Amino acid sequence: MSNESSQQMVVREARLFADEVLRPRAGDFDREEFLPRDIIDELAKRKYLLASLPEADGGLGLDPVYYGFLTEEIGKACCSTRGLITVQSSLIGETLMRWGKKEQKAKWLLPLSNGEKIGAFALTEPGVGTDAKGVQTSYVKRGKEYVLNGTKKWTSFGELADFFIVIAACRTEITAFIVERDRSGITISHQKGLLANRASHLSEIEFQNVTIPEENIIGKPGSGFTFIASTALDHGRYSIAWAGVAIAQEALDSMAKYARERKAFGRKIGEFQLIQMMIGNAVTKTHAARALCIKVGEMRSRGDSNATIETTIAKYFTSQIACEVTTDAVQVHGGNGCSNNYPVERLFREAKVLEIIEGTSQIQQLIIAKYGLRKYGKSSHY
Ligand SMILES: Cc1cc2nc3c(=O)[nH]c(=O)nc-3n(C[C@H](O)[C@H](O)[C@H](O)COP(=O)(O)OP(=O)(O)OC[C@H]3O[C@@H](n4cnc5c(N)ncnc54)[C@H](O)[C@@H]3O)c2cc1C
Repeated sequence: MSNESSQQMVVREARLFADEVLRPRAGDFDREEFLPRDIIDELAKRKYLLASLPEADGGLGLDPVYYGFLTEEIGKACCSTRGLITVQSSLIGETLMRWGKKEQKAKWLLPLSNGEKIGAFALTEPGVGTDAKGVQTSYVKRGKEYVLNGTKKWTSFGELADFFIVIAACRTEITAFIVERDRSGITISHQKGLLANRASHLSEIEFQNVTIPEENIIGKPGSGFTFIASTALDHGRYSIAWAGVAIAQEALDSMAKYARERKAFGRKIGEFQLIQMMIGNAVTKTHAARALCIKVGEMRSRGDSNATIETTIAKYFTSQIACEVTTDAVQVHGGNGCSNNYPVERLFREAKVLEIIEGTSQIQQLIIAKYGLRKYGKSSHY
């Protein structure tokens, strides 16, 4: 009799889905800059879109470690498909679960789960990214309504979204609003020509005197950055940390396979020690990254107070090793590594984006350094 738990079964089935459906088509999604509807429907059918949420709220009830394993399986095969799960489950779903009003959860969670509605998270603007507290998108209160003006940029899946979580400011007060796409005054344009995440339907969204009812505020006025955006980014970073593991592992699989097949000087290139060095380093880095993510997942699972900073550390580390491993994977492939006939070319591009999204590596370093100075700087044992 199998001892496989239901969570292990979800991950095993995700691996089969990734192998049979996603991986063979991922290159086409990238080339066509488009994630087809049948993929979104299939993710919805499998309840992957809100995988980390409780079953009662339309999720799969995966604990953080298994949500990580799911992210890895999907992310190995297709970065944009993984991106849709990151946005729906980690950024939108978890944020609504934590801070949404009862009516907001009732209205949005089940439609998000079954793919009937798509959500997108709109924080970054043309002129404001890392310094997110400086958002220029503004709102004013008019009676029981709010009027929104401004422009958001780089909104993943904004082109497909039925609603956005928009972070906006009224002088120093920052508030998060649910803004439905069909409100008057919204213009959405698809951002094309991206380095990677090409099938993630990135958009620039302009809000011109968009009227929003009071009940669309998430949390309270003024809680938009400290509570709402912070929660979204914490969950988003956890998912991106696993995306780094996914890309590194996929690149490692490719380079090891290639090194066992490709010949030079009459020998398999995997017999050359300089190639072995790259493969040995890739194995070590990928294993270390996954171990760190599992540890962080366990901390998140038990509500450890250091889980958020450890998530930041994991996101910083795995995005860096994904870049290193994919660089070596391209190198092992030689000229073929520079061709989109081989997946390492796409993985190399996708890895770079991980050092930028959900906070750049530099901002993670600053946060981690601040923590390090506070935690370790006081000891007098040396
Ligand atoms: C593919 C993709 C998908 C995205 N999806 C979304 C999304 O769904 N929703 C959303 O809101 N945003 C999204 N973004 C935006 C992303 O979060 C921002 O690009 C990121 O936060 C960086 O902001 P910026 O591009 O404005 O860079 P800037 O803030 O202009 O930074 C430029 C450079 O300066 C560095 N820098 C800035 N401040 C400091 C400092 N204090 N010390 C040291 N260095 C510093 C940065 O690290 C970076 O290297 C996405 C971006 C991409 C590329």
